[in-house]
Amino acid sequence: MLAKTLNNKAKLREARETVRIGCDRYKRKAPDFLSLRQVELSDEEKAALRHAFDVATRPMAELRGFLLSGSLQQCPFCGLTGASSLDHYLPKDAYPEYSIFSKNLVPACPDCNNLKRDIVRNDKGARAFLHPYFDLVPTVAFLTLAVRLRARAIELRFSVVQEDGIDAEAFGRIESHFKILDLADRYRVKALLELRGIKGALRDHHREGGAEKVSAELLRVGRSWEESFGVNYWRGLLYRTLAAQADFCDRGFDVVVR
Ligand SMILES: [Zn+2]
Repeated sequence: MLAKTLNNKAKLREARETVRIGCDRYKRKAPDFLSLRQVELSDEEKAALRHAFDVATRPMAELRGFLLSGSLQQCPFCGLTGASSLDHYLPKDAYPEYSIFSKNLVPACPDCNNLKRDIVRNDKGARAFLHPYFDLVPTVAFLTLAVRLRARAIELRFSVVQEDGIDAEAFGRIESHFKILDLADRYRVKALLELRGIKGALRDHHREGGAEKVSAELLRVGRSWEESFGVNYWRGLLYRTLAAQADFCDRGFDVVVR
């Protein structure tokens, strides 16, 4: 065991300069990661680098703590929940040189981390996911929500649309990010829970000022979420969309949960 640890350490030392060159390339090329020329490492060096992420050494514990610090940290891939794990943006199996490189380690929720797996490219051969540190997320809205009220249920359909200002490749990435991370369904489920939580408040607003008051309150909250988390944040979009939905505001919210 000790001999193996010492060997790993020696391999990491050997690989240090090569890895540094690789990390410089990563920063230079970002976010065009698919054009990265990979550095040459021996199999033992690759194994030592992958292993270095998994073992609880002090430097790794410090890096992990630093990246995951901040109790308000939200998963930047989905915006749904807390980020409690570190995702390798470029997977460590295929890119061991970035196994412990901070710019390649993104705080993520376990669901996104699992769904992302080792996927790098989408079905068009381009990068599959937005890199939270390097990809400029368009300030134009690409997330949309369609709401339909039924007799006993509310249907919520989140999707992405290509608006002016988003080029084809960027939109392809937004689409694959959205699809592979199952965001339509995960947003829907979370949004229904949210509505269940605010139903009582909406009833009160309706009693006080009818549909108009409900709409105004929804819009106020939606704008507040948007101000903090941007135009493509699922929760802000939910409130803003419902504010504009006359049938929902006029007691349509009653169908949400029995
Ligand atoms: Zn997530």
